[in-house]
Amino acid sequence: MTQPRTIEDLRSEVDQINRDLLRLLSQRGAVVAQIGHAKTQEGRPNHYDPAREEQQLKELEALNEGPFTTAAVKAIFKEIFKASLDLEESNDKKQLLVSRKVKSDDTVLDIDGVRIGGDAPPIIIAGPCSIESEEQMEQTAAFLAGKGIKILRGGAYKPRTSPYGFQGMGVDGLILGSRVAKEQGMLFITEVMDTRDVEIVAEHADILQVGARNMHNFALLREVGRARRPVLLKRGLSATIEEWLYAAEYILSEGNPEVILCERGIRTYEKWTRNTLDLSAVALAKQETHLPVIVDVTHAAGRRDLLIPLAKAALAVGADGIHVEVHPSPATALSDNEQQLDFAGYDRFIGALSAQLKQPVSV
Ligand code: PEP
Ligand code: MN
Repeated sequence: MTQPRTIEDLRSEVDQINRDLLRLLSQRGAVVAQIGHAKTQEGRPNHYDPAREEQQLKELEALNEGPFTTAAVKAIFKEIFKASLDLEESNDKKQLLVSRKVKSDDTVLDIDGVRIGGDAPPIIIAGPCSIESEEQMEQTAAFLAGKGIKILRGGAYKPRTSPYGFQGMGVDGLILGSRVAKEQGMLFITEVMDTRDVEIVAEHADILQVGARNMHNFALLREVGRARRPVLLKRGLSATIEEWLYAAEYILSEGNPEVILCERGIRTYEKWTRNTLDLSAVALAKQETHLPVIVDVTHAAGRRDLLIPLAKAALAVGADGIHVEVHPSPATALSDNEQQLDFAGYDRFIGALSAQLKQPVSV
């Protein structure tokens, strides 16, 4: 006659089953991770597949012989599916090219000797909102070059709220901007808004700017990713930090590793500033990515009187540079005349930042 098994025996059998279950779960996790990797390779970042889940649950329901109810079995497996999905997605994130998990050291761009990011001193990008005339560009470039500024900005294609607003000088603006920058030994950065213009803009500009309104233009992101020029990527007006980093990932994934992120304020309910400068995004982007992160104080504030404190704060949280609009005569500027600095204003601005710029600043 067989003895009834002791509770100890039964418990040790349960312990053994736990170990077996854990081994099987780990095995399942490893296979799921491989599926996630294969999906990412195929460019399918969305891993959740309700139809596939439904199919697995149906099969388990048909196979279930008890003692657990079908509802209990389904609940257990749904937890397993959820954990598996988290695993697929966390592996996916780990593989982002923008992530510090893939590249832990800071990316330092070297654009014709101008270094941006990492241990380089903070960079200043300055110039008018729009390229308007030879006189305006020549005066501004000469003034800024005299102050040691190495990167001249100016829009030739302008994203304007109204289609009747000044749309920019187009190709003539590109030619003018690149000429005056070269004459002053500066780099030229300008916005590209359309995939069809990437080639011509890359021909004239040293750095391509993707504006806030185009951060979600995935075709444009891919196209600048194929261009052999560094890209300054503005954060979208309502983009989350994650969306901003994914936008940068589009560029890197096309083979262009030279991306500068630029926080330029996000749209909130606040009306006294044009946008709300999100400094936590700067600190967080620096933590999550190895890319240089700069701050455009001009478009963030939309008003001149806040540019100095905002730039100081941006540098204090670790920004790799500041982007600011400067115009010889802001009152008559064809765009953004509320927020551009005149030359005297620029002198005060840069003077106020000199201690933080870690380099002699000529004012
Ligand atoms: C700009 O820098 O000229 C500009 C239009 O900025 P944003 O895309 O940030 O609005
Ligand atoms: Mn502007």
